[in-house]
Amino acid sequence: MILFVNARQVVTCAGPGAARRGLALADVGVRSDVAVLVDGERIAAVDAQHELEQAHPGATRVDCGGRLLTPGLVDSHTHAIFGRARYEEQELRAAGHDYMEIARRGGGIHSSVRDLRARDEDELVSLALPRLRAIASHGTTTVEVKSGYGLTVDDELKTLRAIRRLGELLPLRLVPTWLGAHEIPLEYRTAERTREDYLRLLVDEMLPRVAADGLARFADVFCEPGVYTVEESRRVLTAARGAGLGLRLHADELRPSGGAELAASLGAASADHLAAISDAGVAALAASDTVATLLPGTMLFLGKATQAPARRLVEAGAAIALASDFNPGTSPTVNFPLVLTLAVSQLRLSAAEALVAATVNGAAGLRLADRVGQIAPGFDADLALWDADDYRELPYWYGDRRCRGTWVRGKPCHQYELGLS
Ligand SMILES: [Zn+2]
Repeated sequence: MILFVNARQVVTCAGPGAARRGLALADVGVRSDVAVLVDGERIAAVDAQHELEQAHPGATRVDCGGRLLTPGLVDSHTHAIFGRARYEEQELRAAGHDYMEIARRGGGIHSSVRDLRARDEDELVSLALPRLRAIASHGTTTVEVKSGYGLTVDDELKTLRAIRRLGELLPLRLVPTWLGAHEIPLEYRTAERTREDYLRLLVDEMLPRVAADGLARFADVFCEPGVYTVEESRRVLTAARGAGLGLRLHADELRPSGGAELAASLGAASADHLAAISDAGVAALAASDTVATLLPGTMLFLGKATQAPARRLVEAGAAIALASDFNPGTSPTVNFPLVLTLAVSQLRLSAAEALVAATVNGAAGLRLADRVGQIAPGFDADLALWDADDYRELPYWYGDRRCRGTWVRGKPCHQYELGLS
């Protein structure tokens, strides 16, 4: 047993194990003078410190030193498996070339695809390890990780196997997603090999292998004008659902195309991006269990003036989550608290709403809300300790690293200058 004592604030986010909407999005549950008892992988009690100390004198004590303790953050959208960085595209965008134009010229996702295909699984694992450790060092304890830079059967399986190995090497909780439909690969844009051939490869060859090997929990598609149409996305996701995978969708990122409506109609766990969502899309998500996952770091890094209409989504009754979209092209950040900053300053959320969107609702977007994202009895002991007196400091000290320790299922994950064990 472990007893976390002497926290100035314990922000529990405790409540129903489901996505929070409307006013409930701000239910962070601030406690003081409480300790947190962990038994094995689970939280056993959150109660008055002196009572827990008396009842469990043999428990290992972790002295929080007057700091802030929160649930570990849940980053429900990343592309953390990639090869080289793509810093040159940042300058191209600054010079006026937009994202879709860079992609058409063979940059963007295609550039990462060429790069990843040339690397073996061991290399992908060793490249991703320090990145995932850096993610954990900023307070994240659950990370969804997508494939999608392979776009052949072998290269997608190689990527997903790398994710599985990383999940065994690190205490972080990794949630694997198959994103074979991230782009139409360049070799399927000829008269001999067409996008229809690639769609058949996805559905008839790649998906069955991914499902048979149990390598992914979710399937995802980049539904966007110029990438996958709504009909093509429906075809891939319907097949994926039939193969037993949960569904997610890159939807309405740059232009509205009906992606949010598609995600809702298919019962997807999450519809992501949504910076260009239509009114019908907002209404569809509000009436569904699909979590609207917002990625404000991406729009910031792309230099876009627009952001997803977070307030409109909340007011309509949609469940919103936040995620980093960590990827080499459009959001190369491992700093999830920085996304909380953007959620407050750009999306106009309160700090409380941002924190629930990054814990409880992130977990809901991964269909884990019944056991992840809260400091409450029965939940997995995923914790983050911060150099802060108050949870509102998380979005406030923007760009800083305030996290001093994370635990996943009761095991130390990242410990920074604490001497904790
Ligand atoms: Zn993405």
